[in-house]
Amino acid sequence: MSILASSTDWDCELPAGDSWQRVLKDAVRDPAELAQMLKLPPQWLASAQQAARGFPLFVPRPYLARIRPGDPHDPLLRQVLPVADELDDLPGFSADPVDDRRAEWSPGLLHKYRSRVLMVTTGACAVHCRYCFRRHYPYSQAPKSLAQWQPAIDQIARDGSIREVILSGGDPLTMPDGPLAALAARLAEIRHLRRLRVHTRLPIVIPQRVTDELLAWLTGTRLTPIVVVHANHPRELDRHVATALARLVDSGVPVLNQAVLLAGVNDDAEVLVELCERLVELRVLPYYLHQLDRVAGAAHFEVSPAVGLRLMDELRARLPGYALPRYVRERPGAASKLEMA
Ligand code: SF4
Repeated sequence: MSILASSTDWDCELPAGDSWQRVLKDAVRDPAELAQMLKLPPQWLASAQQAARGFPLFVPRPYLARIRPGDPHDPLLRQVLPVADELDDLPGFSADPVDDRRAEWSPGLLHKYRSRVLMVTTGACAVHCRYCFRRHYPYSQAPKSLAQWQPAIDQIARDGSIREVILSGGDPLTMPDGPLAALAARLAEIRHLRRLRVHTRLPIVIPQRVTDELLAWLTGTRLTPIVVVHANHPRELDRHVATALARLVDSGVPVLNQAVLLAGVNDDAEVLVELCERLVELRVLPYYLHQLDRVAGAAHFEVSPAVGLRLMDELRARLPGYALPRYVRERPGAASKLEMA
C-alpha cells in the first residue's frame, strides 16, 4: 500500500527561510505530540499510533491552532486524527473507490471527463485528511519532474479536445513556485488549452502559502487560472485563511470550494449553512459537497445519502442559490460527477 508523502517529493530542494515551507517541515507527525498539545485523553493515543502506521499523521501547526484543546470530538481534529475505526475492513470500501487506475492515460495523468485531464503532480500534502480517497494511491509511480512529465504533456498536446488541465495530487501547492511556474508555462504553449485549475487545501491549512510568487505565475499565464480549495467546516476559515483567500480573489483568480460531507464534522445543517455563508463572505463560491468516496479506512465518515439529501433541502431553504453547493458523487466510468438524488 502506498501512502501520501509528508514533504515535497519533486526533485527540487526546499529553499531555507521560506515561511510556508518551514511551516510544512514543522508539521506535527507524532500522535504523542498531538495528544499532548491538544490535551487528549490517554485512551486515544494507542489507537492513533496504530492507525497512523498505515497512513501517517501529518498536521501543520496553523491548522492545529484552530482545534479546541481537550475536545476529542472537535470537527477539525476528527479530520486529521488517526482512529481505530480506520483499521476495520468493511465490504464496499476499497483502495481505489473512484477507479483512478482505470482512468490513467499515462502514469499520473488521469482522463475521466471530456475536455479535462488531471495531473497527479505530487504525492505530498500539507495535511493528511483521514477520509482522503487517494490515501492508497501509488504516488511513487507518478512523474516527479518536468522532464518526466514531458510524455504526458506531449499526449495533451496531441489531443485537441482537451481544454483544461487540473493540477492535483496530493496537493500541487506543496511544490515550490519555480517548478509550478515552469509547468504552467509548458502547458500554456499548448494552443488548444484554455484553463489551468489548481486543486489545493494549502490556502486553508497553511495560509502563508499564498505568496507573491504564487500569484505571479497563476495570473501570469495565458491560461485562465481557477483555484479550487477544500474546507469542510467554518472553523477552518480563520482570519489568516480569510486574508489568503482575499489575496487570491483580489488578484483576479476565481476561487471555488469543495467540501466532503463527513459524519461528525459537517453533517449538520447549521454547520453547512455557516460554511457556505462564510465562504460567500470571503468571495469563494461553494462548488461541491461530495458524498464520501468509499475508500478503505474511512467508513466511519460516511453519511447516508438520505441524510445528505435532507441536509440539502434545508440548505436550499436557507441559502441563496449562488451559495448552494452541488451535492454530488463520483461513479467510476460516468461522464461527469453525478447529482445525488
Ligand atoms: S483530501 Fe486533499 S489535502 Fe487531504 S490528504 Fe487527500 S489529497 Fe491531501
